[in-house]
Amino acid sequence: MRITDVEAIILSLPQIRERTDGSQDMLLVKVSTDAGIVGYGEVDSSPLVAKSIIDAPISHTISRGLRHLVLGEDPFAYEYLWHRMYEGCLYHGRRGAAIQAMSGIDLALWDIMGKALEMPVYKLLGGGFRKEVRAYASALFGDDLADTADKVKRYVDQGFTAVKMGWEPMGQDPAYDVALVRTMREAAGPKADILIDAGLCWDAKTAIRMARRFEEFDIFWLEEPLHPDNLEGYRRLSEAVDVRIAAGEEESSRAGFVDLMDRGKIDVVQVDVTRVGGLTEAKKIAFLAHDRGLPCINHSFTTDLNVAASLHLLASIPNAPLLEFCVEESPLRTELAREPIRVVDGMVRVPEEPGLGVELDEAVIERYRIA
Ligand SMILES: [Mg+2]
Repeated sequence: MRITDVEAIILSLPQIRERTDGSQDMLLVKVSTDAGIVGYGEVDSSPLVAKSIIDAPISHTISRGLRHLVLGEDPFAYEYLWHRMYEGCLYHGRRGAAIQAMSGIDLALWDIMGKALEMPVYKLLGGGFRKEVRAYASALFGDDLADTADKVKRYVDQGFTAVKMGWEPMGQDPAYDVALVRTMREAAGPKADILIDAGLCWDAKTAIRMARRFEEFDIFWLEEPLHPDNLEGYRRLSEAVDVRIAAGEEESSRAGFVDLMDRGKIDVVQVDVTRVGGLTEAKKIAFLAHDRGLPCINHSFTTDLNVAASLHLLASIPNAPLLEFCVEESPLRTELAREPIRVVDGMVRVPEEPGLGVELDEAVIERYRIA
């Protein structure tokens, strides 16, 4: 089997609101083969930047578009192709958008391999650790405390046993930040887990102080309280407080994750399969975490393609206690799959269908396609 085409397709809602919500647009990557099998992947990045990295013509032997690096190649050679893409865009790549763009192609290769063998991807990854994963509802804070309480109650009523909220307005007023966490705990009740995503808002000493103030509400983890480059701050924070510190969604490279774990001393490793170079790389990062006794949990705030690929990862590693499941109401997120991934009694089933197990709705692709 040979790869005959790579198409990078930008989907977007008609209006992008200026908020921390990655479910408003996406880059869909479609890889075709001479066997008639088509695979899909997703990239969580700036869609036009990532599309350019895929489509770009050759400008230097180590500055090439990803598309040209995989055309004509065997889709089963996923490890070789990952290396070929990484080396082929070394000048402008190695970190950030180039690795994010590689994710889309890598995920599409896994989709193709699974469809060709009529097996779910987790089996090709050697998985079987779990058939379903406990999901946490992931959302932004409400417009005010009452709205935040309403959202938490709604998710618990839907069966979620864990709820995460985050980003703005955290970091502007310490008293309001404490009120937000207290509101979440009261709305969730004593049994559900609550997780806080601070959204890069503090320096190390403020984060230490706030983590201690949140202790009485028994939070499951505190996520990304610091800028991702502040490794020394992460180390000081992690060593100072008992609450788990989670991070990783801003990282694209394996080296970046090693730094976060070994220098930043984080407790929970968050891997986004649409940002770190796809499943080929995500599994390596997950086992580096396992070697250090750390859990590895997906980051997903885009579509069911990301969630499905994440489920295959979590089924293929020993250290995956939770699934991030975005509950923000973006039509792009909820409509793209013909059969949306469902949460039942707080759990999500690992797909058993061939490939990634997500059938996309072509009409929805055309409706939101802008490039
Ligand atoms: Mg986050």
